[in-house]
Amino acid sequence: MELMDAIAARQKAAAEGGEVPAHHPEMLLIGCVDARKDPIDDLGIPKGSSLILRNVAALVHPEHEKRLTESAALAFAVRHMGVKHIAVMGHTDCGGIRAALEGISSYSLRDYLQPIYSLSEQVREDEDGLAAQRHMLEQEAVKYSVRNLRSYDYITEAEAEGRLTLHGWVLDIATGRIHVWDETADRFAPMVHD
Ligand SMILES: [Zn+2]
Repeated sequence: MELMDAIAARQKAAAEGGEVPAHHPEMLLIGCVDARKDPIDDLGIPKGSSLILRNVAALVHPEHEKRLTESAALAFAVRHMGVKHIAVMGHTDCGGIRAALEGISSYSLRDYLQPIYSLSEQVREDEDGLAAQRHMLEQEAVKYSVRNLRSYDYITEAEAEGRLTLHGWVLDIATGRIHVWDETADRFAPMVHD
């Protein structure tokens, strides 16, 4: 079915009226615009339980750069909704990560992805082969974004008071498995084991 037909078919099935569902999100998930995995259907996040911000490469810039969409989503989630968790979820085979590693053509993307581009220089020194570099950069970008969450005073404060926990995840787009950053050990490990 064509995309627009699929949307129209769903519209026909939608009932008139109905109740507004309750909204008590416990988490803000920051993910990539990549359309291959869906947080609700594929990750099993129940509807209404997590706010979701998606941008290219799940990137969080430092507060002083004044990226308004990121800042607004963080303020809304933490200050107004009082979420208990923020998860930055990068993913494998990310076009944003590839663009930073392999060269960026568009100016606006170059500006936006500049921090990942900077990280990629170190990754290129540390790892041989494009696949290994990409894998490492996916992880480094998530770590960078989690650290940048702490450039917001109210996030640092909430974390210090135990009201908020920050998570760094890399979603394997092939398997749907999430690898979690253990910040103390500085390594990624599967969220669950077989
Ligand atoms: Zn991506």
